[in-house]
Amino acid sequence: MKTILFSDFDGTITEQETFSLLMKEFAPEASRRLIPRLLSGETNLREGVPAILETIPSARFPEMVERMRSMALRPGFSEFLDLLERFSIPLVVLSGSLEELVMARLAPYQNKISRVVAARAVLSGEFLRIHSGSAGGDELVHKAGVMREYGTVRKIAVGDSVTDLTMAREADLVFARSILAERMKKEGRPYRPFENFFEISNYLEDLWKKDPPNG
Ligand SMILES: [Mg+2]
Repeated sequence: MKTILFSDFDGTITEQETFSLLMKEFAPEASRRLIPRLLSGETNLREGVPAILETIPSARFPEMVERMRSMALRPGFSEFLDLLERFSIPLVVLSGSLEELVMARLAPYQNKISRVVAARAVLSGEFLRIHSGSAGGDELVHKAGVMREYGTVRKIAVGDSVTDLTMAREADLVFARSILAERMKKEGRPYRPFENFFEISNYLEDLWKKDPPNG
């Protein structure tokens, strides 16, 4: 069976939650008002994230993109991409952030990433407009829905937060850190903890040497 690896971006591929950092920097007032509501669940991501972003003038978007380029990636990411390439495993990045921001940071690795799914910024008006072709339920990007498009494949998920739970439930093997790890533990679901990509690569390399992933 074919294997596909699905990974979250913020707090997973990046060390920090770059998207919320940028929202706080570029939309401080809306972030102060809405981020607590997002965290408490009073507002869902599908409505809350655009409500914050759409207070940002379109003219400032290039600055946001530029800020992304300096965000630190989690150690071992580049070597992890090499491992995936060696075993011919596609990497699909599923992010609740904006495609332009994700791509700004991942541009150096573009040829090793099969697909990036995220919302998009429309810049034609005075303020940003947010468009998502993969919204579902109360999520701006319905990660599990995108995974299901791939049909019957072996799915590996890598993530760090509550928004990755649906993705983790859909996967055959889960690497989790932070809140996602806590939630998996609470639900009694199996997962492998990780803090860097070297740990994930080591585990997968051992696994795939014994049991070729696309066999
Ligand atoms: Mg995340």
